[in-house]
Amino acid sequence: MADADQINAYLTATRGSASLTGPPRDTPERTKAANELADYYSELHQGLAIILAHSLYMENPWTTPLTVVYSALGHAETITLDTVHLVYDQYLGQIFNSLNRFYYEERDYHRLRLNGYLHKLCASRALAAGRPGRALEHANIYAVVQSVLAKKSASGGAATASHSRAVTTSLVEGFVVAHELMHCVYSTHPEVATAAESFCVDLVASSDRESVHEAAVTFMTRRHDAYAVAPARPALPEALGFDFDVMGPTFGVASDDVSLREECVCDGFAILATGLWARTQGIGSSEAVKAAFIGLHHLRLLSHIDSLVTKDDTPQQESPQRGLRLLGETQYRMSFFRSMEWAWRQLGIWPAVDGEADNLIDVNESYWDVIFDYALDDFDGQSENQREIARDKLDKHPVPLKNQRDEVRRLCGLP
Ligand SMILES: [Zn+2]
Repeated sequence: MADADQINAYLTATRGSASLTGPPRDTPERTKAANELADYYSELHQGLAIILAHSLYMENPWTTPLTVVYSALGHAETITLDTVHLVYDQYLGQIFNSLNRFYYEERDYHRLRLNGYLHKLCASRALAAGRPGRALEHANIYAVVQSVLAKKSASGGAATASHSRAVTTSLVEGFVVAHELMHCVYSTHPEVATAAESFCVDLVASSDRESVHEAAVTFMTRRHDAYAVAPARPALPEALGFDFDVMGPTFGVASDDVSLREECVCDGFAILATGLWARTQGIGSSEAVKAAFIGLHHLRLLSHIDSLVTKDDTPQQESPQRGLRLLGETQYRMSFFRSMEWAWRQLGIWPAVDGEADNLIDVNESYWDVIFDYALDDFDGQSENQREIARDKLDKHPVPLKNQRDEVRRLCGLP
């Protein structure tokens, strides 16, 4: 298949890794594990695509081919070759899982572990940004921190396999895949994206049950007209009655920034899809919403790390502004997320739970306490000192350029 060859060539060029799941399947080199993985992601992807098609009144089944890779790059993206493809990097799932461990499990030597893990993230993101020398500094620090930790906690300290952590990881992956599927809608069905966008803008601008309901009716009517065959059941049921006092929208009408607006709308429908998909897996929607919000925090942390490892590439005077802009954007997405979650609840998509809004505020506070406060503030300063020591060591024992990538991978255990 020409398209499969093309996508593999693209993936090998950008990530040094070919598809784990694309055709051909069942060849001898494909292990049983790879096939199981392929089935897992393909089910997740199809389940979410059906829910989104249904909610947006699109032809059903609608889907975009999914390719799963495993590479140090660790990110999900939508690419357009002859057709639109969704690429999901399974290493991103591993990053989510590690961050969830920090989020959920209070453990000994937390700060030191977090310091080490942030260096590992810096190493993989610097590698992805084409900066192997910088990656090597972080990889060396990571290796030192790991050996210190190994001595300190020789007896135990192993992470307990936590059920809620595993569930959260799969929900976060679902949220990210649904978000990317929405980007595919923007590429393949721009008229649907436009309708979804004005719907989201109407929703977050609404401040009472009537206007939320009105926005839904307008959207349904528009989409019904565009998509002549009525779906078996309306995706947005009539408001079932709700407790209005929970929380007002935190944000006004969406931004003028076109790409930021697209990100927000993708998040808005990804929350819906993740919440509904969770139910098909016997998981409560409110758990799904909470997990998706944790996921958005993880993504914010990753964009912060990206800006840290590429800071030296940016002209001195632009650097602080760029970091601030990135933070501002994710802050905006988080506010939008909360407004959309509120709006879906007002529409009766999932039941109102007492204190639901507080749950998201709690996530926000815990994430700052456990991870983000340190990552944003102390880590940068500490990291400068640690890197200086690593640079001294590397000056004495330099690693040839052609071996640097492999050395980073070896030290950090990266794909
Ligand atoms: Zn996006």
